[in-house]
Amino acid sequence: MNLMVFGAPGAGKGTQAKFLVEKYGIPQISTGDMLRAAIAEKTDMGMEAKQYMDKGGLVPDSTIIGIIKDRLKKEDCEKGFILDGFPRTLKQAEALEELMNQSGKKLDKVLSFDVPDELIIQRIAGRRVCPKCGASYHTEFNCSQVENICDCCNDALIIRKDDNADTVKNRLENYHNQTAPLIDFYKKMGVFTQIDGSQKLMVRKSLIWLQKRCLVRYKKSL
Ligand code: ADP
Ligand code: ZN
Repeated sequence: MNLMVFGAPGAGKGTQAKFLVEKYGIPQISTGDMLRAAIAEKTDMGMEAKQYMDKGGLVPDSTIIGIIKDRLKKEDCEKGFILDGFPRTLKQAEALEELMNQSGKKLDKVLSFDVPDELIIQRIAGRRVCPKCGASYHTEFNCSQVENICDCCNDALIIRKDDNADTVKNRLENYHNQTAPLIDFYKKMGVFTQIDGSQKLMVRKSLIWLQKRCLVRYKKSL
């Protein structure tokens, strides 16, 4: 199954993609995570990309398409994948179509998370991320179990360099001007699904947690 999570920065694409990884056992392909890994490794590509990312701009299409082309060739993508943060321009979407056609694959679904800009700004202001696994938390809406520590790897959480008020404005502008037109592209392909992305994850998470706790108690009492 070949999926894509789509939406504005901070709409929750990465968080939802991680749920889908667990559910379907296929890899999450996040261009943002791959670029941040290249920056951490100080590769030439990473250093070039950093200049765009720090300002909230888009990394040039040719760089991004090159990264995706290499990544989709890997063996773990054979059973399917979840694209996260790619494509972000029409040119990238067209390149993806070409790549998929060449390898006889097709995109099954685009899951688009619809979140109003005001909420995006709030979400990004409180976002904390794990530098190791890329998991994303929020100081109010999606707290880690121990403050500022990743639930999965125990690493200290950080604030991403591009998660500041100025940069967010640019990123939202880029989303509306360059990425949102892809909605029509994928609607025409018949794979587009819109989801309300504005619900609080915390509420859902605590419900699941409560259900689990009740179940454990119930089993113990038997
Ligand atoms: P968010 O969804 O919060 O913006 P990402 O991790 O997806 O975060 O992206 C971070 C940054 O990486 C973007 O602002 C952009 O500079 C760069 N980037 C990621 N994916 C792409 C892409 N497909 N095309 C161009 N730039 C990208
Ligand atoms: Zn982690």
